[in-house]
Amino acid sequence: MALTDDDGKIRWRQSPYTLLAGLLILVAAFAAAMHSVAVALVLSVGAVAILAYQPARNARSETVAAPVIEALPAAETARDNIGVTSAALSAIDMPLYLIDARENIVFQNGAAAEAFGEIEANAHITTRLRSPAILDCVRETIAKGNVNTVEYSERHPSTRVYLVRVAPMPSENGKATHFILSFRDISESRVVERMRSDFVANASHELRTPLASLQGFIETLQGPAKNDPKAGERFLGIMLEQVQRMNRLVDDLLSLSRLELKAHIAPSDRVDLLPLLGHVRDALQPLAASLDIEIAMDLPQDPVFVAGDRDELIQVFENLVQNACKYGQEGKRVEVTLTPATKGQGAEVSIRDFGPGIAEEHIPRLTERFYRVNVEASRSKKGTGLGLAIVKHILTRHRARLIVKSEMGKGSVFTVRF
Ligand code: ADP
Repeated sequence: MALTDDDGKIRWRQSPYTLLAGLLILVAAFAAAMHSVAVALVLSVGAVAILAYQPARNARSETVAAPVIEALPAAETARDNIGVTSAALSAIDMPLYLIDARENIVFQNGAAAEAFGEIEANAHITTRLRSPAILDCVRETIAKGNVNTVEYSERHPSTRVYLVRVAPMPSENGKATHFILSFRDISESRVVERMRSDFVANASHELRTPLASLQGFIETLQGPAKNDPKAGERFLGIMLEQVQRMNRLVDDLLSLSRLELKAHIAPSDRVDLLPLLGHVRDALQPLAASLDIEIAMDLPQDPVFVAGDRDELIQVFENLVQNACKYGQEGKRVEVTLTPATKGQGAEVSIRDFGPGIAEEHIPRLTERFYRVNVEASRSKKGTGLGLAIVKHILTRHRARLIVKSEMGKGSVFTVRF
């Protein structure tokens, strides 16, 4: 048979049927030439029958080639779909179960086995999940074919919070026979949410205290102390202190939010720590003198360069030396030591005070925002509770660590290791 190619050229289909038909026509022509009309007629009919048979065969092969699955029994197709779905589910790293309308678990992926343990094939869902809320969701989805979600938390082995979703698997006739149960782990976003709301609550509380005190003094000045210039002067002094406290707090909050924005960008400047620490000492000399403290520096001869942002590093060391002066006042001495980098270790700056020290249980929490060992002591020393949080943020950006060692009654050492 002649067919045309895509480019329009004629080509011949090399089918054995075509060849046989051609052969019969040739023999028929020969028989006709030999005046054997009956033989020629029989042979021609045979050739036509063969050619007529061929298109029918072609047409059938075309229909068969399209949806092979349709020709398979329904149960086999469904099994096939489950196989493909299970393979897809096993590639996803979120715990997933495939369940049937009788609530049997047809398949669980590796993440589900890891999170909730292995199960036997076709186990009922209640052998794995007992939460009434999840079971209600599953039942409603099976009955109504809708999607349901519920929050579920586990206490053991560690606290985890999941958003559980039950959804029907799409089917051709619209009636789902299988359902997918997924567990989205939202534990970390919950922790972040809680930290954020704690932070807003703490910041508001910190601002509300001086605001309330300002309001109180203004009302007193307008009322009972209206005609008392001496009291008025004293109150104005306290009010100024409260305003300065709010200013410090707002500055620290802004510092923190700016640092958060560039947390993932490492600083690229080269900074010599030698003059930088000298600058910090000079800046804090008046505070040290007012507290009757000597700041002793132990610095090497040669420059010590680190990759860093000068202003931010000044903020780090000012905070640490200031804390050592404020909280270690009774030790009368603060030592700042700079150790250059050696082969296996980066440069180090340590700030030692000889104050009362910090109890062990507080040390891991010192860099939390608004965490103070003693709230009143911090406030009376003009602390905001944000200093070490800022230090930690800056050091993280600088790929440096803060190491705190303290002994009660002997003092504390805050070390920055680059
Ligand atoms: P603050 O603004 O209160 O000083 P920081 O974040 O700088 O906040 O410090 C948190 C807390 O850590 C302080 O309130 C204080 O209790 C404690 N602290 C920090 N440095 C020292 C130190 N050198 N000695 C004793 N306690 C310290």
